[in-house]
Amino acid sequence: MSKKVRVRFAPSPTGGLHVGGVRTVLYNYLFAKKLGGQFIVRVEDTDQSRYVPGAEEYIFDCLRWCGLEPDESVQHGGPYGPYRQSERKTLYREYAAQLVAAGHAYYAFDTTAELEQMREKFRSTENPSPQYDHHLRLKMRNSLTLPAEEINKLLAAKTPHVIRIMMPVGKTVSFQDMIRGEVCFDTSLVDDKVLLKADGMPTYHLAVVVDDYLMKITHAFRGEEWLPSAPVHLLLWQYLFGWEEMPQWAHFPLLLGPSGKLSKRDGAKYGFPVFAMNWQDPKTGETTEGFREKGFLPSAFINLLALLGWNDGSEKEIFSKGELIASFDMARVHSSGAKFDYEKAKWFNHEWIKRTSASELLPLVSNTFGKANLQVTNVALLEQVITLVKDRCTLLTDFIEQGSFFFKRPTQIDTGSILPKWSVEKSTFFDQLIHYYQQTNSWTAAALEKICKELAQTHQLKTGELLLPLRIMLVGGKFGPGVFDIACLLGKDETLERLAQAKRLILQGV
Ligand code: GLU
Repeated sequence: MSKKVRVRFAPSPTGGLHVGGVRTVLYNYLFAKKLGGQFIVRVEDTDQSRYVPGAEEYIFDCLRWCGLEPDESVQHGGPYGPYRQSERKTLYREYAAQLVAAGHAYYAFDTTAELEQMREKFRSTENPSPQYDHHLRLKMRNSLTLPAEEINKLLAAKTPHVIRIMMPVGKTVSFQDMIRGEVCFDTSLVDDKVLLKADGMPTYHLAVVVDDYLMKITHAFRGEEWLPSAPVHLLLWQYLFGWEEMPQWAHFPLLLGPSGKLSKRDGAKYGFPVFAMNWQDPKTGETTEGFREKGFLPSAFINLLALLGWNDGSEKEIFSKGELIASFDMARVHSSGAKFDYEKAKWFNHEWIKRTSASELLPLVSNTFGKANLQVTNVALLEQVITLVKDRCTLLTDFIEQGSFFFKRPTQIDTGSILPKWSVEKSTFFDQLIHYYQQTNSWTAAALEKICKELAQTHQLKTGELLLPLRIMLVGGKFGPGVFDIACLLGKDETLERLAQAKRLILQGV
């Protein structure tokens, strides 16, 4: 019987969640859901020096916003907890000790100063940054070089020490990456990584292997920046649990920005978000804008991320979450880096705004208006406005320009765009238009258009020349949906008041 699929996302709470990180979550999630498996989030907080307060909460908030809820996690609980590595601290030491006993790892007592000296002493042009590896391990103070008696004494006196893996010399280790095929490493080229630190905390290398085993992870997917660590993890799997227990691995390619690897700096430079949501660095107080605040829909965000490095083999680009789950295939994830293109990201959002119903958009638009200090009480009107303007909106924030004038009379009228072409004839025309609009009992866009066109004919004016001033008089500028649709939704009283008020302003400017 095949094992139940269990995948994990294992973030370190060291900052905000970058688009690349969310894409890793997404591919994990899609893979698990397609196969009826479970998606686990494990917080890897063993490096306390890099811990950033608030980052863990932020990561879970991002996942919630994206609709990628874990099945098991610090916040969701589950049978394999605790899901925060710092709370599992005591269980790692026994595995490290087991490795020492089997001769695959050793105690190292070198102080920071001694390590520094070693780097100084062995630095050369061929070897500019000497590593603690098979060349040097026998020149250092560790359980390979010290007599047994002294080792026992040092351990009994609780002398600070770390446990390092002893990388074999001249061996090749390999694995089958689900995206890249066979990947091989020469173990001689890898240093003796620390597995357990002096404070008793495991490093990432030991903790990731132990936890993937204990949490019964069947597939481990992560960014390709972790490939260089793979030989260490492969050996740990072999030494501790045996190859058969090892999950299948895939390493996702980098997301590329205009200048190579997509970075926070690219966002600042080119004006696009790199985080899922706003991230405020608690140390610097600096805020980096996120996709949520820019006005993206979660549906569009996950759609665009899915396509950054994967496709279903056809030209299809728009996928709902359900369609992504149904079509996702790890074998179709590209092995080379995907380029992030902000214009394309906006295209996805525009498509999703068009496809999303006004009632679903309602709370999001209402929230966007709220942030712009516009409280909408007439929800029915807002829904009509959304229906009318959504095809013109690329980002949720565009609803402000396209729709806020329905709820707030414009404080400024762009008379500058009207006055150069203003004439006595136009003035008379608008007086009469106001009059006819006052008289009419049928307040529909079609009826209002008919009145306007017939009146224009009577006055021998071109309708084209009248629509722009009419629009500006109603909304303040050159934006918004069809002008008669606007008048229809504004209602008779409001339309007439706006026309009269704008007319006064124009006359003052003539
Ligand atoms: N804690 C690692 C990170 O921050 C996880 C890498 C992995 O998934 O193995 O990315």
